[in-house]
Amino acid sequence: MKWVYTIGRIAGTDIKVHLTFVLFLGWWALLGYRGGGVSGAVSAALLLLALFACILLHEFGHILMARRFGVRTPDVILLPIGGVARLERIPDEPRQELLIALAGPAVTAVLALIFFLTLRLTGGDADVGQLNPIAPFLNQLLVTNVWLLLFNMIPAFPMDGGRVLRALLASRLGLVRGTRLAATLGQALAMVGGLYGITAQRPFLVLIAFFVFLGASAEAQAVETRAAGDGLQVSQIMVTNFRTIPIYSTLADAVDLLLSGEQREFPVVDNNGRIEGILTRDNLIRGLSKSGPGSPVADAMTSEVPVVPPTLDFQEALERLRSSKLPALPVVDPAGTLIGLLTSDNIADLLLVQRARPEGRAGVRQRT
Ligand SMILES: [Zn+2]
Repeated sequence: MKWVYTIGRIAGTDIKVHLTFVLFLGWWALLGYRGGGVSGAVSAALLLLALFACILLHEFGHILMARRFGVRTPDVILLPIGGVARLERIPDEPRQELLIALAGPAVTAVLALIFFLTLRLTGGDADVGQLNPIAPFLNQLLVTNVWLLLFNMIPAFPMDGGRVLRALLASRLGLVRGTRLAATLGQALAMVGGLYGITAQRPFLVLIAFFVFLGASAEAQAVETRAAGDGLQVSQIMVTNFRTIPIYSTLADAVDLLLSGEQREFPVVDNNGRIEGILTRDNLIRGLSKSGPGSPVADAMTSEVPVVPPTLDFQEALERLRSSKLPALPVVDPAGTLIGLLTSDNIADLLLVQRARPEGRAGVRQRT
């Protein structure tokens, strides 16, 4: 995801902030400034930072519950609509996902209750009405946490309500069909919300609907990809019919290879057939414009490419391909011989084929 900045790390989870969250902070401070000058702006900004802390606590509700089921969370992203903790995988049992999805809102509910009781006991205004940038601090925290809670329970991805819905559907329909249905419902809800936002001239609602719409399709895509490759290993999905390019070749040679077939990424090998790097189409184009067709392939290629063993599990291979940000990775056997290519095009084809099967692969096998 672009526009995302890592600001810290807590208990093995990277804390990331989406640029729109920062913009939201600025917008909120501006509202505070218009209501109460410089001190208004400062207290508005402080409020949002306190809210940020509440959202983090909410996310750690999810993270700690996930950890109980052996699911790690590499990072958590803070968006204006709340946080999204990225789970390493979806737990095998829908019941576990249900508990993980509910743990965050439970934290938020407890926080809201604490703020409410504190306000009540100190004789403060515990009204959960309109959010007002110049209202007392604790009252605003209460209101925002109540909103956060309600908002998170909207049954659409990427909100917790969407995960609750998916877990409930998945226990009957299986993970893939459950996710597909939950995503479709979420997108329908986002469309309705977005259209309402446009007609009622509420740009913030349109922004939220936009995030929800993207979140739903991303979730469905991720689950279908996972399901399509479930139980497969790299050797079963790799491209075996491919051309390599010797390291001493020129870019002109690489152009001939590129134009002679469908292949777009070429493993670069030494005299013994050992992998030295990979020449992608982007590498080739950049190399041509920088150094011309007579320059060596070795200068243009991406070296230090992670290789994957043929016995690697599909999920793990997909992660490596994604984190490499390359369109293809070489598959190398234990003897060091290049035996295949794992490409994102190939994986996309696998998905299409799986989806076209009439009986479908209705669900990821579930451990019982
Ligand atoms: Zn949550």
